[in-house]
Amino acid sequence: MESINLRTMHTIATLGSHSCLQILKGAKEEGFKTLAIAIPKMAKFYKQFPFFDEIIEIPEWKDFFNLEADLKKRNVLLIPHGSFVAYLGIEESKKLDLPSFGNKKVLDWEADRGKQRKWLEEAKIHIPKEFETSSDIKSPVIVKFYGAEGGKGYFVAHSKEDFEKKIGGSRRRPHIIQEYVVGNPIYIHYFASPLTGEVEIMSIDKRYETNADSLGRIPLRGQEKLDIEPSFVVVGNIPLTLRESMLAEAQEMGERLINASKKLIDSRGLYGPFCLETIVTPDQRFYVIEISARIVAGTNIFIPHSPYTYLKYGESMTTGRRIAREIKLAMEQNKLDEVLG
Ligand code: AMP
Ligand code: AMP
Repeated sequence: MESINLRTMHTIATLGSHSCLQILKGAKEEGFKTLAIAIPKMAKFYKQFPFFDEIIEIPEWKDFFNLEADLKKRNVLLIPHGSFVAYLGIEESKKLDLPSFGNKKVLDWEADRGKQRKWLEEAKIHIPKEFETSSDIKSPVIVKFYGAEGGKGYFVAHSKEDFEKKIGGSRRRPHIIQEYVVGNPIYIHYFASPLTGEVEIMSIDKRYETNADSLGRIPLRGQEKLDIEPSFVVVGNIPLTLRESMLAEAQEMGERLINASKKLIDSRGLYGPFCLETIVTPDQRFYVIEISARIVAGTNIFIPHSPYTYLKYGESMTTGRRIAREIKLAMEQNKLDEVLG
């Protein structure tokens, strides 16, 4: 009985974008009050859904900081997602003095591609080759800038000369030069439970990226004339199941990543939702191109559940709901501190 009271006393809140629908629907299903903080356009859109107990409208995303004291008073538990870093900034997000789900120390490891590499190496996960300077480019490369911007600004280069031409004024922006791996991009979504120590595969997606996914619609002859550069801006996601015999390795990669995080970051390491963004080559090898240490929007496809969460839970279970379930279980076990960052 007491746990139910605790839950209704607490409000789960998030920014109104990215995976807000899924997070708050899941929170409602687990018995929490729900709150979205959104700019007017999104607030208007969300009003049609019945599971928002409250929507606070802010003129611009940065106005979120003006609400901090009020949210603190109201016992709000914050669930971070991609829009926090994208709209509020990484340093500002870290400084937020509000109870939020997840280990904030992981943010620095996620944002720094050098640290990600160290983390993946520690976890014995294959990664594409990386080139220190453009002079080292021997095969096609993809050039990526730091930060969670969903593929924005990436470009492919075939040689040193091609790289120099394309990097232009962005040379000073932190970036990496990575081997372009020819294979299938596959994004594996996980949840690591800090309470049980278990790592679950929640779901899998592939991205719909413009214009990389549309170039193939034009014959090569036409492409040459148009002189189009591939870009990788994500605009949607497509559901996927993995060949069943590959699932065990996918799960073990997730487990190794969590174990490595406990060695490298701190004793709690990474927990909660995360994603390994992989490219799979014809020898069925996973090359991990990036770690997302939070809920990714590719999980939005799986409302009310994915094939894998249905197999495990036999009921509606999204990544959003799984987060709320973990918070609920932590409250019931008097371990809320263990899941909040
Ligand atoms: P937004 O949802 O537009 O508020 O985006 C916040 C951040 O999350 C941006 O950096 C996006 O690139 C990223 N993002 C949003 N939606 C997706 C998606 N469907 N797949 C992958 N990344 C996304
Ligand atoms: P990311 O932001 O790292 O998830 O990359 C965005 C997109 O760029 C991916 O979904 C792929 O289409 C593409 N991409 C990234 N890294 C590589 C790579 N090393 N080889 C081939 N394609 C890549």
